[in-house]
Amino acid sequence: MIPIYRAPSPIQRDAPRRLALLGSTGSIGTQTLEIVKLFPERISVHALAAGSNWELLAEQALAFQPQVVCIAEEARYASLKDALATTSIRVVSGREGLCEIASAEEADVVVAAIVGAAGLRPTLAAVESGKMIALANKETLVVAGSLVERLAREYGSMLIPVDSEHSAIFQCLVGEDSDSVESVTLTASGGPFRQRSVETFDAITRAEALNHPNWSMGAKITIDSATMMNKGLEVIEARWLFGLTPEEINVIVHPQSIIHSFVTFSDGSAKAQLGVPDMKVPIQYALTFPDRWPAPHDRIDWNTLRSLNFEKPDFHRFPCLRLAFEALKQGGSAPAVLNAANEVAVALFLADQIGFTDIPRLIEEAMSSVPSSDGTDLDSLLAADESARQAVRTSVSELVT
Ligand code: NAD
Ligand code: MG
Repeated sequence: MIPIYRAPSPIQRDAPRRLALLGSTGSIGTQTLEIVKLFPERISVHALAAGSNWELLAEQALAFQPQVVCIAEEARYASLKDALATTSIRVVSGREGLCEIASAEEADVVVAAIVGAAGLRPTLAAVESGKMIALANKETLVVAGSLVERLAREYGSMLIPVDSEHSAIFQCLVGEDSDSVESVTLTASGGPFRQRSVETFDAITRAEALNHPNWSMGAKITIDSATMMNKGLEVIEARWLFGLTPEEINVIVHPQSIIHSFVTFSDGSAKAQLGVPDMKVPIQYALTFPDRWPAPHDRIDWNTLRSLNFEKPDFHRFPCLRLAFEALKQGGSAPAVLNAANEVAVALFLADQIGFTDIPRLIEEAMSSVPSSDGTDLDSLLAADESARQAVRTSVSELVT
């Protein structure tokens, strides 16, 4: 096992962290800013970036006074620029703006919290600048894990997981020899449809799928949690973050989301990380690693906690999880195809254009129709991504006409 991170030097540990926060208006982004508010002396914001929500981005800029902000959607540039006209904050836009922010010399830590493959290029820019990256944007590792791993080694970039399961594994690995890891087990809540009759899955509505039992998150990851594609993406994320083989990664359903994941070692011992479901804890750990800073996040109430349950994941109920394991085993561009097809299918489901069970069906179709390539260079991966998006759109338009 070869983890793609290294412990930062003591100099980095003591210095204040200056953040470049990509995806600042989202669920992870806004919670990251909550952490910044807790530690005004120790964390500052160099840059903020968002997709299209210029109003919230302007509000955040006024509150946190970064040097530069970026709005990815060019059409919102003028509104954002107007809103910040009386300040000295520089406003940039588009993909170039995102990459500029991700590689800014003034930033010590890049928080990668854009949703989807849209986060790939800015995250690569951060890797190529040798940054320490607090990584929430799991899709980057799903699409381009092998490329990111290679570049991270080449440029000395360190990736620290924000995803709660990977943060749990990362925390369990501190102080351990990587050779003594036998397997890792990602826990999954099972989402809102763990016990619903599979025969009624066709009738699942957008509102039902957006109603996650334990976590409040962005729309895309909430749907991914309902299909359990989220866990599938996390399996692939774990493969690259921790240098594991597919056989070394397990998934177990744990409805309470108290155990965030665990590691089994070669002597039979297992270490788990526990906490109430609150993303602020793993976000903070990614910013303070290898230290822990005192914070008022909720603690587990051991007096009222009655049971922790576990069950095997059901591949028949959740075909997306099976498809993700298949993509991981196929390797090459297959995970990029899986991810792109999923992104389009989820967007169509959120727009009420397809049903819940169409999501895995469309992904499986794309995986068999898009020729898989061994290429893991950026161009091959982007081509696979585009072909998969096109395959899903064509399939859906044929369905409608
Ligand atoms: P979200 O939808 O709430 O926020 C997404 C952010 O990305 C927003 O700031 C949005 O403006 C920005 N964005 C969207 N498209 C963009 C584009 N094309 N260019 C630039 N910016 C763009 O999503 P989220 O729930 O915060 O998730 C962010 C990432 O973190 C995802 O990869 C998700 O899987 C991961 N993650 C989220 C959670 C969670 O609790 N929300 C937990 C674990 C991992
Ligand atoms: Mg997770």
